[in-house]
Amino acid sequence: MKTEFSLAQLADPDIQEADKILRKCVHCGFCTATCPTYVLLGDELDSPRGRIYLIKDMLENDRAPTEDVVKHIDRCLSCLACMTTCPSGVNYMHLVDQGRVKIEKEYRRPPLERLLRGVLARVLPDPALFRMSMIAARFAKPFAVFLPKASPGRASPTFFDRLRAMLMLAPASLPEKGPASGRSFAAEGQRRGRVALLQGCAQQVLSPGINQAAIRFLTRHGIEVVLVADEQCCGSLTHHMGRDDDALARAKANIDVWIGEADRNGLDAILVTTSGCGTTIKDYGYMLREDRDYAAKAMRVSELAKDVTEFIGGLNIAWPSQRTDLVVAYHSACSLQHGQKITQLPKELLSKSGFVVKDVPESHLCCGSAGTYNILQPDIAMRLRERKIANIASTRPDIVAAGNIGCMVQIGLGSNGDGRSFPVAHTVELLDWVTGGPSPPSFKESMKSPRIGSA
Ligand code: SF4
Ligand code: SF4
Repeated sequence: MKTEFSLAQLADPDIQEADKILRKCVHCGFCTATCPTYVLLGDELDSPRGRIYLIKDMLENDRAPTEDVVKHIDRCLSCLACMTTCPSGVNYMHLVDQGRVKIEKEYRRPPLERLLRGVLARVLPDPALFRMSMIAARFAKPFAVFLPKASPGRASPTFFDRLRAMLMLAPASLPEKGPASGRSFAAEGQRRGRVALLQGCAQQVLSPGINQAAIRFLTRHGIEVVLVADEQCCGSLTHHMGRDDDALARAKANIDVWIGEADRNGLDAILVTTSGCGTTIKDYGYMLREDRDYAAKAMRVSELAKDVTEFIGGLNIAWPSQRTDLVVAYHSACSLQHGQKITQLPKELLSKSGFVVKDVPESHLCCGSAGTYNILQPDIAMRLRERKIANIASTRPDIVAAGNIGCMVQIGLGSNGDGRSFPVAHTVELLDWVTGGPSPPSFKESMKSPRIGSA
């Protein structure tokens, strides 16, 4: 793609980067076929190629974002399916991140939307506040049906649509808190390594059992695990909202504590059980590339960051010889398959550990969770969820495995109206189960119901 940035514009390293990305695009449009919003809405401006043009126009002409441009960029899930499909290696992720930062700085959203975004950016990354908000939402949930509904055909969701979606996501109850930050867990038997495990923000409130399963599995296989004190949310949530100052501050705080831990006691890896966070931490090196004080440390952290399945795949595990006849539908989280290019490994691990693993048709399409997307774009998110549920149901699974809490919540929301629902577990919960841990809570719960996973 031809670009026409001026020399003055190109003095800005971000514009230089955008220019490099844009020049790689050859307008072929292959990316449109795998873009969930284009597949659903059929509008070129809701495709990667369309959004690339919109961002190019904003950056090149230093044009303020209009309501229409914001609508189409907001509808992007940042699922990165387009990056997997693109034959020219266009880094859409870094381009749309720039578009979002520009929108956040230069576009004035309606007051109620600003309020909602402000609340999400403040509450979601803070586990204590998030826990309190989930408890409050549980009491408010029965009243969600009384919130005014938008008129049909409206292009963008209203404040009340978003509020309703947020309340509907609140779980009926919250599990017990997980282990406190700052603790470490000794390896059983001969020590083979030492890792930090990201504690996360929303995940530690909604499903602390995921990290507990990871700790059990890792220590059982000779790995010492530390929950580094003073760690924060990885910054992914605010990064995807264009709030870069907040995201970079969180990244720097995490880099300080992880590098401190690595230098003092040694770390073989920083493990992540939420693939959305893993994608962002692996990108810290890029995000802070222009920061003289942090560039090298950020790169070191990105190199240490690994999805938990990536690390387990490198251990020589003696899997149990006995097989189960449980059918696992593997849901490939976008951040894992498109963001981190980890596609086969989780399925191989599940298969080696004795499960019957099934691929979900249209696995490249997002489930609609995408960070705060299922709150901010509830209509598109629910349409994607229904499509995902139908595809999962076609595999007739006993349980669904995924590597990202957002997807687990979205898929496990309950019945989609035709009687289908599935227990959903994190991949590491299943691996822990077959090597001596307890069965995943969602599976235990589903055993109380007569039939799982089919109409
Ligand atoms: S990130 Fe996903 S939703 Fe956004 S343009 Fe790419 S494929 Fe489409
Ligand atoms: S597939 Fe890649 S090169 Fe082709 S239009 Fe999409 S982003 Fe551009």
